[in-house]
Amino acid sequence: MLWLVFTSGKCNLKCDYCGGSFPKNIVPWGIKYNIDKLKKLIENDPESTVIFYGGEPLSNPRFIIEFLDNVKAKRFGIQTNGTLVKLLSEEYWKKINLALLSIDGRKDITEKHRGKHIYDIVIKNAGYLKSLGIETIARMTVTEDSDIYKEVTHLLSLEVFDKIHWQLNVIWSDKWNVEKWAKESYLPGIRKLVNLFLEELKRGKVLKIIPILGVLSAYFFGGYKGSPCGAGYKSVSVTTDGRILSCPIAVWENWAVLGNVNSGFKLLEDPLPEICKKCEFKEYCGGRCLYSMKENYWGEEGFKEVDEITKEYLRTVLSIIPTVKELIEQGIIRLSDLKYDPTSDSTEVIP
Ligand code: SF4
Ligand code: SF4
Repeated sequence: MLWLVFTSGKCNLKCDYCGGSFPKNIVPWGIKYNIDKLKKLIENDPESTVIFYGGEPLSNPRFIIEFLDNVKAKRFGIQTNGTLVKLLSEEYWKKINLALLSIDGRKDITEKHRGKHIYDIVIKNAGYLKSLGIETIARMTVTEDSDIYKEVTHLLSLEVFDKIHWQLNVIWSDKWNVEKWAKESYLPGIRKLVNLFLEELKRGKVLKIIPILGVLSAYFFGGYKGSPCGAGYKSVSVTTDGRILSCPIAVWENWAVLGNVNSGFKLLEDPLPEICKKCEFKEYCGGRCLYSMKENYWGEEGFKEVDEITKEYLRTVLSIIPTVKELIEQGIIRLSDLKYDPTSDSTEVIP
């Protein structure tokens, strides 16, 4: 199972789609529970992946060090903005398997939303972490400024990221004209990316573009029971005050509380939203994002707009399945190379 462990509600940046630190009364900036209680829960899970989360997790390096010294997990990772990498020594970085770094693609796009000089710092630090043998994932936020094909191919060309993942800045942000942008830019870009993925596959190379790979994996190896991120059924988030939540974004929302580090927790038995139960894409999409479904900030119309985009992107990815099968039969790629579990990386698959 995936454990997203908040180290602090504090962040040193103020990216415009997020706004920076959490208020201390919602997500305290230090740990307010006994770490031994959490250790017990995590060490009872033989398939534990622990991802340090925040705020900016590296704003509390002392807790990360204490955790790595005391708690055993199958896999460790961190979701970081990539600017405070030097606060953890090489000795401790080497205990971490995976780093997800926030970057939106090309320099100007990244710096428009995340701040000046951020791009160069993140790229340099991604290269450093990769040189230590840590798997690196670019974690992009995609807005109306993004050209998805250009942003993704740019990040691939840098050769410092092993995998690429993105999320759309929709539903939890202020409403914008996503429909027009998707028609003119995003969906044509997705078609080009899927083509590129297929061309590389024909050469025997699997590009680790998670929104493509995660859907193919669901087709060949079995689909998702709920949001592919695992929210509430295969993934939990532990806040600094010891609450256990289904989704790490839902720090304000009571519906997300599954329990507490002291008293234990209960997973969701049926995480697929009602509205998705008859959807032909449910195994690949799992309702996309539990948080968006519950909060539904853009209302029914907004949901439909985003949903049409999700469905068209899924149709595009699924359209290559016959060719992918042929490539497997011809021995050009191995089926096992398409297997992907988003909860071992803390990614969401569906943008
Ligand atoms: S495509 Fe839409 S309706 Fe279908 S599973 Fe995903 S969110 Fe639900
Ligand atoms: S995809 Fe949605 S439900 Fe899953 S972690 Fe992200 S915000 Fe939460």
